[in-house]
Amino acid sequence: MQEMSGQIALVTGAGRGIGSAIAKSLAKEGATVIVNYAGNAQAAQDTVDSILKNGGSSEKYQCDVSDFAAVEEMIKYVVQKYEKIDILVNNAGITKDGLLLRMSEQDFEQVLAVNLGGTFHCIRHAAKYMIKQRSGRIINLASVVGLTGNAGQANYAASKAGVIGLTKSAAKELASRQITVNAIAPGYIDTDMTAVLSDSVKESVQSSIPLKRMGTAQDIAQAAVFLASDKASYITGQVLSVNGGMV
Ligand code: NAP
Repeated sequence: MQEMSGQIALVTGAGRGIGSAIAKSLAKEGATVIVNYAGNAQAAQDTVDSILKNGGSSEKYQCDVSDFAAVEEMIKYVVQKYEKIDILVNNAGITKDGLLLRMSEQDFEQVLAVNLGGTFHCIRHAAKYMIKQRSGRIINLASVVGLTGNAGQANYAASKAGVIGLTKSAAKELASRQITVNAIAPGYIDTDMTAVLSDSVKESVQSSIPLKRMGTAQDIAQAAVFLASDKASYITGQVLSVNGGMV
């Protein structure tokens, strides 16, 4: 039997990039995966189709994670249909880069609302059910820049540092119910998010990585599967850096 057979997983922002790789990897271990997305229905359907083609179980669900009430509806839908929620992966994220002095209030607030607010909303609503179940795994996508800061990413780095504080606090609050809460801090990963960087920026980033390559979405998915598995049952409140040795 597959290790996660019978488990229900919700992965936010799972149509593309890291989220899609995490959804497929959890499904490969036997979990039923709800693929959340914001606007790109085709990408989400492609993730679902890939899971179904490989014999897994999956469906897509549209919801903007920055909307508190919509997230409540999404979690309710999952629990009403599948009777539980075992794994929550808060992966949805955006960037709106710019130097501090030129950063608009809106660009600051939007990034905080999706990356940090979205993670809070999902934990806030899913934890209610996980507490009743007395089990659960929550995995939040932070970032290396949440640990180090980064010029041009004050909004994004603040949101990811916030995700780390949220992770550690939620881990402490939820531990007595056997719910673990951990973060993954990826380095530079080859997805749509980093595709916008110029070749010269990519080259300079790559040369600063001791392992001399950008990471793949699969590199992050493997870490997420580990944290969601029984093998990680004594790990909570931690930040797992997956960055090729950058930090
Ligand atoms: P990506 O390729 O840009 O994909 C982002 C995903 O998030 C998409 O599926 C998108 O949905 C979804 N999303 C965006 N806003 C949303 C919202 N309001 N509600 C629900 N879903 C939303 O990003 P990625 O590179 O895979 O990154 C995934 C996560 O890893 C993010 O949290 C990111 O900050 C973090 N991370 C990435 C890197 C990197 O180098 N790539 C490094 C460190 C951390 P649609 O497809 O519907 O638009």
